[in-house]
Amino acid sequence: MYHELIRHASFWAFLFFVDQQLAEAARKAGCPCGGQLHRADYPRKPRGGCENLPESYGKRLSFCCDRDGCRKRVTPRSVRFLGRKVYLGAVVVLVAAMRQGPSPRRARELSELFEVDRRTIARWRVFWREHFPQTPFWKVARSRFVPKLAIANLPRALLDAFIHREDSKEDWKRLLEFLSPITVTGGLLIEGIS
Ligand SMILES: [Zn+2]
Repeated sequence: MYHELIRHASFWAFLFFVDQQLAEAARKAGCPCGGQLHRADYPRKPRGGCENLPESYGKRLSFCCDRDGCRKRVTPRSVRFLGRKVYLGAVVVLVAAMRQGPSPRRARELSELFEVDRRTIARWRVFWREHFPQTPFWKVARSRFVPKLAIANLPRALLDAFIHREDSKEDWKRLLEFLSPITVTGGLLIEGIS
């Protein structure tokens, strides 16, 4: 089952490695003002990973411009954190997706395993079906799926589109990288709603 991979610290260590690469690319690109970026990570206390979640999960990688008068904050895309959501991104996808699966019992077991309560799952389902489809990201990205993914089937349809082997870290990497544009500041803003 999907969740077995996600219960291993090695899965999360792998995603941290991916985040480090994304961060390095952002650092190299520098600040739009031409200044250099210095590490200025945000503290995080994520939920829903595994026991012995790597220590690296106490931080969201982030940078600050070193130029006086700018000091702009640059937070790279992430395959670990879904914006400000407390639960880790893979869990927000998986648990909501399993609710749409054929087995309510399995979905319940999964919620218990990751310690997600009903209300949180209900919020996630609203997020995937009502908020996410309205983001500028999805309005462009949806065109890559042929046939079209039905909004009513989100996020299950994304899981099915990307995860071909349940034990494949690479499949998860592709899915989470695909979603990563919504993990940065403003990535989830939709017109008319702040
Ligand atoms: Zn700058």
